[in-house]
Amino acid sequence: MQSRTQVAIIGAGPAGLLLSQLLHVGGIDCVVLERQTQSHVEARIRAGVLEPGTVELLERAGVATRLQREGLPHHGFHLMLDGRPFRIDMHALTGGRSVTVYGQTEVTHDLIAAHQARGAELIFSAADVRLHAVESDAPFVTFSHDGMQRRIDCDYIVGCDGYHGVSRPSIPASVLRSFERVYPFGWLGLLADVPPCDEELIYSNHARGFALASMRSHTRSRYYVQVPLSEKLEDWPDDRIWDELALRLGPEVAPRMTRGPSIEKSIAPLRSFVAEPMRYGRLFLAGDAAHIVPPTGAKGLNLAASDVGILAEAFIDAYRGGSLAGLETYSSRALARVWMAERFSWWFTGLTHRFPDMDEFARHMQVAELNYIRASSHAQTVVAENYVGLPLSYSCSS
Ligand SMILES: Cc1cc2nc3c(=O)[nH]c(=O)nc-3n(C[C@H](O)[C@H](O)[C@H](O)COP(=O)(O)OP(=O)(O)OC[C@H]3O[C@@H](n4cnc5c(N)ncnc54)[C@H](O)[C@@H]3O)c2cc1C
Repeated sequence: MQSRTQVAIIGAGPAGLLLSQLLHVGGIDCVVLERQTQSHVEARIRAGVLEPGTVELLERAGVATRLQREGLPHHGFHLMLDGRPFRIDMHALTGGRSVTVYGQTEVTHDLIAAHQARGAELIFSAADVRLHAVESDAPFVTFSHDGMQRRIDCDYIVGCDGYHGVSRPSIPASVLRSFERVYPFGWLGLLADVPPCDEELIYSNHARGFALASMRSHTRSRYYVQVPLSEKLEDWPDDRIWDELALRLGPEVAPRMTRGPSIEKSIAPLRSFVAEPMRYGRLFLAGDAAHIVPPTGAKGLNLAASDVGILAEAFIDAYRGGSLAGLETYSSRALARVWMAERFSWWFTGLTHRFPDMDEFARHMQVAELNYIRASSHAQTVVAENYVGLPLSYSCSS
């Protein structure tokens, strides 16, 4: 079976779904191919902090009604050193900008609902997706679905298929360059239907290791503790995680923590990764397909959104006005912003985590830097403007 579209999108994560929705608003026809089932995609628990730029894109895509109703605006967050917290007042330090706490699961749910409401071609359980002729003017994708072989001819292919997808490997090794830092620890995450211990997020640097107190709503908490990569989930019953959190969040916060049974637990490794270029011929990469950040700065989902924001405008310019300039400069513009977020996520991870090879000098450097941020409004402004998200104007060519 053979069909045709303007843009074929691989992957129905936030990048693929948001791009498809933005293209639809711009009058561009596209098809989204997803390897997993709809229920699998909708059940994934991941990020939860949206930058204002991401919220604007979701509004532009027409999928922000529930987000506006249920999202929690956060004007600040707390940094903590060995149990002593101090607040970064993002709102005051960035001229009124704030982040919104709204789970990636909810964003995905809203985007899928919008697709299905308009009868869009969003194909789940698409097996063996392959990209063809991406360097030519007539690219196409093949896959099997419901026992049938299918082929979709298109003008462009966008790989939004995450770190383990098939799109990035479709760029020849002689062209693709990658840059990577793997961290010697992971995050053990616990999701529980209990009220959060604070109205804002708390990032704690503690001698026992990093901890984060986060949330998805007023009744759902998300907590993380740094663990060695050798740790096994089965060795962490809920009580052990709650006990460890109480130690790392310290005597001021621990009594406010409501314990409860986990509804999800996982250990995620931490990695910084960038692949260049993000365009090869008629193939474009967006989101985790091209880059990964450690979750410390809450940038993964937001970077995926800013990539597709840049790319959607470029496609709209190309189809409406005939200008290919946006598509031709997409890679360098997206990468300029990606590297800024990589820098912040790497720096914030280094500031807040215990590294296995850390000596006394390195620990004193962390302590001095956190004390400097505590004391200096200039230093706090640097943290705040990165956390809330750098404007798209930072996506200038490098
Ligand atoms: C376990 C985990 C926890 C995370 N926690 C946080 C967090 O707390 N904070 C934060 O900011 N970020 C977090 N992230 C990162 C954030 O979730 C990602 O940056 C974000 O999901 C990127 O969106 P994406 O659409 O680019 O990629 P993805 O969400 O990975 O979506 C890619 C999609 O492509 C599909 N796909 C893959 N291969 C194929 C194929 N061959 N054919 C068709 N479809 C395919 C996948 O099934 C998936 O649906 C986390 C990531 C993970 C993996």
